[in-house]
Amino acid sequence: MIVVMRSDATQENVDGVVEKIQELGYRADVEPGEFTSVVAVIGDTTAGGDDVLRILPGVDHVVRIMKPYKHVSRDFRKRDTVIDLPNGVKIGPSAPVAMMVGPCAVESEEQVRQVAEMDKKLGFTILRGGAFKPRTSPYTFQGLGLEGLRILRNVADEYGLMVITEVMSEMDVEMCEEYSDILQIGARTMHAFRLLKTVGQTRKPVLLKRGFHATIREWLLSAEYIISEGNWNVIMCERGIRSFDDEFSRNVLDLTAVQILKKESHLPVVVDPSHGTGERDLVMPMAKAAIAAGADGLIIEAHPDPTTALSDGAQSLPVDWLPELQKQVHGIAKAIGREV
Ligand code: PEP
Ligand code: MN
Repeated sequence: MIVVMRSDATQENVDGVVEKIQELGYRADVEPGEFTSVVAVIGDTTAGGDDVLRILPGVDHVVRIMKPYKHVSRDFRKRDTVIDLPNGVKIGPSAPVAMMVGPCAVESEEQVRQVAEMDKKLGFTILRGGAFKPRTSPYTFQGLGLEGLRILRNVADEYGLMVITEVMSEMDVEMCEEYSDILQIGARTMHAFRLLKTVGQTRKPVLLKRGFHATIREWLLSAEYIISEGNWNVIMCERGIRSFDDEFSRNVLDLTAVQILKKESHLPVVVDPSHGTGERDLVMPMAKAAIAAGADGLIIEAHPDPTTALSDGAQSLPVDWLPELQKQVHGIAKAIGREV
């Protein structure tokens, strides 16, 4: 349920509504707007209360939101959420296409530096890299952990880039938060609800990947877990879903999700064509398609020498392909009137 305030409602009116909501046994979340503020009523609202709230001073009307993902829903926040990073980079529909490019896993300082140097040269503003890797087998490379985080941060600072890295467990949130600018929740942990709540308690931007077996509704509800803890800085990331045919591509990249999410929610949406395809030859075409479909950014794996990569070599773009990626992405963005 949300309470929409009148345009001339005072702060006192809003406070009165919040007080009444709490009195009714619910939680209140105020969303100030340019013209009207709305107050979300959180809790099991089947018991009612809308009749009382409707007649409070300053209230225009009360809407019952049937969507289970209240905060994430466009019904609650009409305007697009734009993510602000510490160096002034923004992610959202009104901002340039955000490019998050780097290795799947941090392997060495030299490896990260080679990608970062190219990122800087091409105007890609965010360096990706995994220090904690969710590997299918416990016997494959698991990531450098803290050492990997240090490498990422140092190299990113050297080139003035922002850092995105995956946090796999709630135990590592504090550490990853210290070294990164965006926390990535991976496909495998999209349903790790304790982890979602923990990143929700930070104020760091969170990139939430879609689980490869998750419906869009489940994915939106995972975003709701984060926002319901108070962290509104959520970026949705489509990275492909598992289907019956994995002969030619690792996953099926669901680009319809981009526009569905834009309609259902106010959150920025980015696309990962690397995991979405699993094949480096498919990455660039799908990157272009994602921008054309309305994505606000791309997260892409790159490696100085993919043949030696310790993870996801087959889908990593060699660093010397990146200028072509930049050219292609710029071309599509320009064609659809989007800033790059
Ligand atoms: C990754 O970004 O390296 C990764 C493991 O992604 P996903 O969670 O989408 O598989
Ligand atoms: Mn990877």
